[in-house]
Amino acid sequence: MFIDGKWGSDGKSFDVTNPATGETIEAVADASADHAVQAIAAAERAFPDWSRTTAYHRAAILQKAHQLMLENKQQLAELMTLEQGKPLRAALNEVQYGADFLQWYAEEAKRIYGTSIPSARADQRFMVQHQAVGVVAAITPWNYPVSMITRKLAPALAAGCTVVLKPAEDTPLCAMKIFSLLQEAGIPDGVINLVTSSNPEPIGDVFCTHAAVRKITFTGSTAVGRHLATLAAPHLKRVSMELGGHAPFIVYPDADPVHAAKGATLVKFLNTGQACICPNRIYVHRDSIDPFVSTMVERVGRMQVGNGMDAGTAIGPLINSKALEKMERQVSDASAKGADVVCGGRSLSDGDHAGGCFFAPTVLNSITPAMDIYREETFGPVAAIIPFDDKDDVLAMANDTSYGLAAYVYTRDLTTAMQSFERLQFGIIGINDINPTSAAAPFGGMKDSGLGREGAREGLQEYLETKLGGFSV
Ligand code: ADP
Repeated sequence: MFIDGKWGSDGKSFDVTNPATGETIEAVADASADHAVQAIAAAERAFPDWSRTTAYHRAAILQKAHQLMLENKQQLAELMTLEQGKPLRAALNEVQYGADFLQWYAEEAKRIYGTSIPSARADQRFMVQHQAVGVVAAITPWNYPVSMITRKLAPALAAGCTVVLKPAEDTPLCAMKIFSLLQEAGIPDGVINLVTSSNPEPIGDVFCTHAAVRKITFTGSTAVGRHLATLAAPHLKRVSMELGGHAPFIVYPDADPVHAAKGATLVKFLNTGQACICPNRIYVHRDSIDPFVSTMVERVGRMQVGNGMDAGTAIGPLINSKALEKMERQVSDASAKGADVVCGGRSLSDGDHAGGCFFAPTVLNSITPAMDIYREETFGPVAAIIPFDDKDDVLAMANDTSYGLAAYVYTRDLTTAMQSFERLQFGIIGINDINPTSAAAPFGGMKDSGLGREGAREGLQEYLETKLGGFSV
């Protein structure tokens, strides 16, 4: 735990496990609801002074933090691979992406502009300013254990907020390392506080109900996000929710199916399929099915599954055995209902795979709406391909989900691209592009995928109140 500038523990701890080997890496402090209350109190005490610092001062600290994160890139990436499992190269990319938020919001802190509004009264002037909302409580997931933290902390700190963070119980080590770097960068005591815990519920309850917390920011599952938003609602706390996704990936008949399959493979198997923007329903025009599937299968066949620390590993383990069971259940349900298991389709437990949660990268063809995988978020290395015949129907099929985070479209036709961009009910649309993310771009979902945006100017706005001044002159 890191509360009011001090690292500590009251003796209770929980183990952090390596998902590639099943071995314990380290034991970390197990915080309770009382610790969350202490952390909020520290953040409340620190808020007046921190919020009154200049944007230039906060920007300089964030720039320093950016520099320190890059200097510690290798160490942070290795820690991430150990506790989360992704291949080291992917972990290095994530640290870079995480550091980008520190730099981008260091720059943006200086651009929290207000406005002056002409009044209908000759003796009146209006002025609008934006001020920090106050104490922020943040909850982050395990799949991107560095960037999901900086994506919240950097704009919150840039705005002048103070923060209490509860990271995921699977990945507290990255959070601890980030906090020590932020401390080294010169963030004053109490401005950032960390509670690591094996039991998130009581801490979430405190975050959502404590009078001093003005804002909840959460990234995780839709079920937990809905629960937290419900708890926070009577207290009228502001909430940002980055929740689940069920991304469609549409390959129109005019697209190059080989090019599209290469892109789909890269983004589907990213982080072993454990990203909320991974494509879950891959709609391929029937004329393109054969080259698409054969390219994907050929690419998947080259992917080495193993410990992320080993050079050459492309697919790491799933985070835990529950995730493995979900893959097994979705694949057997689809197969029983007539899906074609083109490759993979099973857990891997022999030899080097013995201790970890490994699932063979899998391609399923002929998926239909009757199968669980058509509706449920997958969150694993299983590509579900749905052949379609009529170009006019596919957007309705893609929109037929309660989720609305990311969607992908492959086409060479400008009209098709523009219509898809405008009609898809998703917050992030990749048009012939599998990586529509950046610290500079707004990330977030519609419908059950959440509320608010992270990154970009919109991400800073989430931590600011609008204040109007009416001046009689
Ligand atoms: P996932 O299914 O991807 O693990 P979760 O939504 O369960 O996603 O977890 C995301 C984050 O939410 C983690 O930090 C986890 O500890 C936290 N969390 C889970 N359940 C609760 C809860 N009831 N209250 C507060 N936080 C929770």
